[in-house]
Amino acid sequence: MTSTKTLCPYCGVGCGLEVAPVSKPDAATENYLVKGDRAHPSSQGMVCVKGATIADAIHKNRLLYPMVRDSLDEPFRRVSWDEALDAIAHRIRHVVDTQGPEAVCMYGSGQLQTEDYYTAQKLLKGCLGTNNFDANSRLCMSSAVAAYIQSFGSDGPPTCYDDLEQTDCAFLIGTNTAECHPIVFNRLRKYHRKKKGKVKLIVVDPRRTETAKDADLHLAIRPSTDITLMNGIAHILLRKGWIDPLFIEEATQGFTPYAAVVDHYPPEKVAEVCGITVAELEQAARWWGRSKSVLSLWSMGINQSAEGTAKARTLINLHLMSGQIGRPGAGPFSLTGQPNAMGGREAGGLAHILPGYRLVKNPEHRQAVETAWELPPGSISPTPGLAAWDMMVGLEQGAVGVFWVAATNPAVSMPDIERTKAALRRSPFTILQDAYYPTETAEYAHVLLPAAQWGEKSGIMTNSERTVTYCPAFRDRPGEARADWEIFAEVGRRLGFAKQFACQTSAEVYAEFVQLTAGRVCDMTGLSHQRLADEGPIQWPCPQVETPDTASTKHDKRLYTDFRFPTPNGRAQFATFHEQGLTEPPDPEFPFVLTNGRLYGHWHTQSRTGRIDKIRKMHPEPLLEMHPIDAQHLKLQSGDWVEVRSRRGQARLKVVVTQYIRRGVLFIPMHWGALWADAAECNALTHSAVCPISLQPELKASAVTVVPI
Ligand code: SF4
Repeated sequence: MTSTKTLCPYCGVGCGLEVAPVSKPDAATENYLVKGDRAHPSSQGMVCVKGATIADAIHKNRLLYPMVRDSLDEPFRRVSWDEALDAIAHRIRHVVDTQGPEAVCMYGSGQLQTEDYYTAQKLLKGCLGTNNFDANSRLCMSSAVAAYIQSFGSDGPPTCYDDLEQTDCAFLIGTNTAECHPIVFNRLRKYHRKKKGKVKLIVVDPRRTETAKDADLHLAIRPSTDITLMNGIAHILLRKGWIDPLFIEEATQGFTPYAAVVDHYPPEKVAEVCGITVAELEQAARWWGRSKSVLSLWSMGINQSAEGTAKARTLINLHLMSGQIGRPGAGPFSLTGQPNAMGGREAGGLAHILPGYRLVKNPEHRQAVETAWELPPGSISPTPGLAAWDMMVGLEQGAVGVFWVAATNPAVSMPDIERTKAALRRSPFTILQDAYYPTETAEYAHVLLPAAQWGEKSGIMTNSERTVTYCPAFRDRPGEARADWEIFAEVGRRLGFAKQFACQTSAEVYAEFVQLTAGRVCDMTGLSHQRLADEGPIQWPCPQVETPDTASTKHDKRLYTDFRFPTPNGRAQFATFHEQGLTEPPDPEFPFVLTNGRLYGHWHTQSRTGRIDKIRKMHPEPLLEMHPIDAQHLKLQSGDWVEVRSRRGQARLKVVVTQYIRRGVLFIPMHWGALWADAAECNALTHSAVCPISLQPELKASAVTVVPI
């Protein structure tokens, strides 16, 4: 039985898998045995339930043929690829001529491979001249991207998974790593247990999550008091002298004003604001200050906030003042949600960036990309495009003439979902390019394009620790499905850009892309499909070298080991923030703070996991977690049904009473859209306020009330 080595296409941990066909009666019912790839450096053979069951959904509910309809009230009718692509090219040309290129938008996904992302950037940003490409990564980690760029001068997590087993103190804030990044947590938990008492694990989360249960210290802070907490820790570090003056002096700037501000965060005040004890705060600061190495992990609990960038930068401040970066076991590590969100960032897959960690606003960066793409100077607009939520606003205002969605399901995942659906309904022409059908978003599409998914196309994905893995095709494409990059390139050729879309294989696309990383922080010029297929996964930076077989061992696994940063003066930048508080704080009418997140088994909007029996049995229905005292006040018990209402909508959910959540805070899983449950959509309740720097929505906190039914 021949097996194929590849990467799990779910979360940003990026575990290596081995997939072997078990039986092949026909392409629709093919079975596979999936196990962890022991040789993959990131996961070492481990795999969670999602990775282990991935093949169970591979052939279910697939979109097989291009389909179109003139209006949303009509049924879809099957058409040929030529008809569908001609219609798309015709519509784009018409919209560009009549409304301008800014009326064309594409909304992509961290599920796309790097070749897909890169080809889409060339089509939108280069050929059409609009930066209106954004991805669901905007909802996931754009605050981390902004924080890295502003603090260090470039995107890119400076750490690696080996740091999980080399740290003396792990500080996890706003991340339920045990459920959302299970294999990262497995590595950390094993090490923490082995080094019992010697290695400290601090978890900051209003919920006592599966992650918090393993902590030596759980700080169950009030929602969105993270900045106050971290400024409070900084205050103690300063007062006790647990800082690194030499690092501050030689590698940073902006420390003096920062220190002056954190001086105003005495422990008593901080503990009161955060809802923890002074002793807990001092313990956290002591462990941070006295540990030889401190590794922080964070994800949506920090990023999905109207202060997301400020929170992430405040965390980075702690690393800078204590010199906890650029050496084993130390550094600020943002965990990405999706399997190739990192690859998307490298390929320029957000509305303000270009391939190779370049910025749309930088004229030299635009020029470098225009030259590489053989486009006339000025082809790339200097204006960042519409971010994810702004696309919804654009649809609402009638400013968008073509809305192209690829590999994502915004009719479930966007905030303020009724407003989102109304905006989608206003779209004059929506293309949905996806592997699965039906999905909630298909209801709002005029054109459906069947996409080949993981295992049906060969391409590259980069995980959270910058490890790049080649993912080869191992099964036939169902129906008439095509790779996403092939579809983008075909439309580009129809629009008259034959030279720009001359690549015939994904290996050629990747070879072209890596040239745009030359000399950048994310230099991957030493990588190719062939090399990754021959040698296995390799971490970047990986510049071109003369002897390929030595390259993977030549570079350090961490960034900034020389304490020089890619800022104009080589120094990392402190930034000072005060807590602004929740956009929508609780009040007498809406007295609870609603938060939300993933469950261990499900993935996002269930397009795959909702069709896997084992996972459906694990998590059969949506739920609402509530503290026992809140439940008592409302005379509720576990199993009772309630309606949760916010200023925007409502959801009907079954109550689970648990001490593992703070009083006044409620939790809903994010996975149930309209296809999977009646009126249980988490985003019926969320609001659309965004971080003004990263433009990431504050999905994590909304004010709600609970009405027994
Ligand atoms: Fe896949 Fe993430 Fe699970 Fe690893 S931890 S097997 S990447 S879902």
